[in-house]
Amino acid sequence: AGPARIIDGTKIAADIRGEIKQQAADLLSKHGITPGLAVVLVGQRTDSATYVRMKKKAADECGFFSVDRKFDESVTQQQLIDTIKELNADPKVHGILVQLPLPRHIDEATVLETIDVSKDVDGFSATNIGNMCLRGGKPPLAVPCTPAGCVELLQRSGVEVSGKEVVVIGRSNIVGMPVAHLLMSMDATVTICHSRTKDLPGHVRKADIVVAAVGAAEMVKGDWIKPGATVIDVGVNSKPAPENPRGYVLCGDVDFESAKLVAGAITPVPGGVGPMTIAMLMKNTVNLARHAAGLPRIP
Ligand code: NDP
Repeated sequence: AGPARIIDGTKIAADIRGEIKQQAADLLSKHGITPGLAVVLVGQRTDSATYVRMKKKAADECGFFSVDRKFDESVTQQQLIDTIKELNADPKVHGILVQLPLPRHIDEATVLETIDVSKDVDGFSATNIGNMCLRGGKPPLAVPCTPAGCVELLQRSGVEVSGKEVVVIGRSNIVGMPVAHLLMSMDATVTICHSRTKDLPGHVRKADIVVAAVGAAEMVKGDWIKPGATVIDVGVNSKPAPENPRGYVLCGDVDFESAKLVAGAITPVPGGVGPMTIAMLMKNTVNLARHAAGLPRIP
């Protein structure tokens, strides 16, 4: 096997945003609806500010209505809750996103719970997560964006999931846990690994598909990868790079250089899962706007 086919998330995400733009235009011409996305940002984290800027840019390009609510680090929990209630009541807003993490004096769960389920564009609410996990239940109104992006990358790259051995490294509420459920619902046999897993390399070596969502720079080595396996690298880490003007470069949770020699297909960082997350946010916004109008969701 190898060298691996590079799964181009930038290209696939641009294709999807083009489709969403068309769907938004249809929604406007046929039903008079403009999808609306509200983004709530707290504090000065540069990574959060960058993500919010990219999300707003994508929303503008898709022809959405968008609103920002920016707050100082010192904002109170009640102020955030009041803002969300206001957005819940605003008929122009179909999706509400609170950029995480929030400052430590604020309880994230309490703030997120305030978002109306029908506007939970990140799909993080207990109702949407529950409906995603229940078999044969009603479909969630939105599925978490990064996990949905991983699935979409596999589908659009023609990677078969049914019957495959999948190892997901990480079990967070926003990535590891939901991506494992989605892949299980697509009939994969899923193993979820985490910080207490014994012999992580041994698990990874059995996987036809590896999803790495850890937050540890280049932890997964090429000799952990089964020859021909598909590797989806969710991690966004920085590593020192004296030759770079910024002094660092981004890297994933997978050691790309060694893994690409063994894998059948692999996502790069940057340019893999990252752009897909934003594309899926746009898709969720359109689907929530459709839901609000009683229209069926776009698969
Ligand atoms: P969390 O920190 O919430 O979760 C990390 C998970 O990795 C935990 O389940 C943890 O286990 C597990 N873990 C930590 N160390 C190890 C280890 N040595 N071996 C095995 N498992 C380990 O992170 P997130 O899920 O929020 O994010 C994961 C990564 O994905 C980060 O790099 C983040 O930046 C990136 N990310 C990228 C996005 C994108 O759009 N591309 C979007 C969201 C995140 P335990 O549960 O036992 O603590």
